[in-house]
Amino acid sequence: MSSNIIENIVRNFSKLPGIGPRASRRIILKLAQNKEKTLNDIIDGLQLLRDNINNCKLCGNIDEGEVCNICQDPKRDSSLICVVEDVSDLWAIERAQNFKGKYHILGGNLSAMSGKTIEDLNINGLVDKIKKDSNIQEIIIATSATIDGQTTAHYLQDILSQYNLKISRLSFGIPVGSELDYLDDGTIAVAFKARK
Ligand SMILES: [Zn+2]
Repeated sequence: MSSNIIENIVRNFSKLPGIGPRASRRIILKLAQNKEKTLNDIIDGLQLLRDNINNCKLCGNIDEGEVCNICQDPKRDSSLICVVEDVSDLWAIERAQNFKGKYHILGGNLSAMSGKTIEDLNINGLVDKIKKDSNIQEIIIATSATIDGQTTAHYLQDILSQYNLKISRLSFGIPVGSELDYLDDGTIAVAFKARK
């Protein structure tokens, strides 16, 4: 069999989303055979990722610096906050190029399966933001259309109902169980327009 070095890295790659042991082996082989170009570029990129990319202290997005590009952008509408589960959801919404407000990332959803509870999610951060910033007028809850996503949305609606805000929920013309990251841009745009 192959060396320990290879087995180790195959095992680590297999932990990544969407990459099983087979794909992992193919990737490692490709990298080992293209050290000069591909492997070095990837190592450089990963080092930059490790040293320069952080969670935005305002919204939880990942970007360079303490505050992300979206939070810093004066052209974005800070009266609108879209609440999503993860950075991948923010990316999906940004790809659709339709939403011009700002974000708040929860860091998951309330899930009996994964054992995530209210304390694990950044809900306090959202409430603090609302208390401090009287400019915020609408919270768009864009948690996924799964049962866990819906449970999280109901909980948020409950917590936020005491503030003088418009609270809306993205409506999806898709079966329950689909996650935001897998939706095409057109579907996301329609969901924003049809929020209620
Ligand atoms: Zn941010």
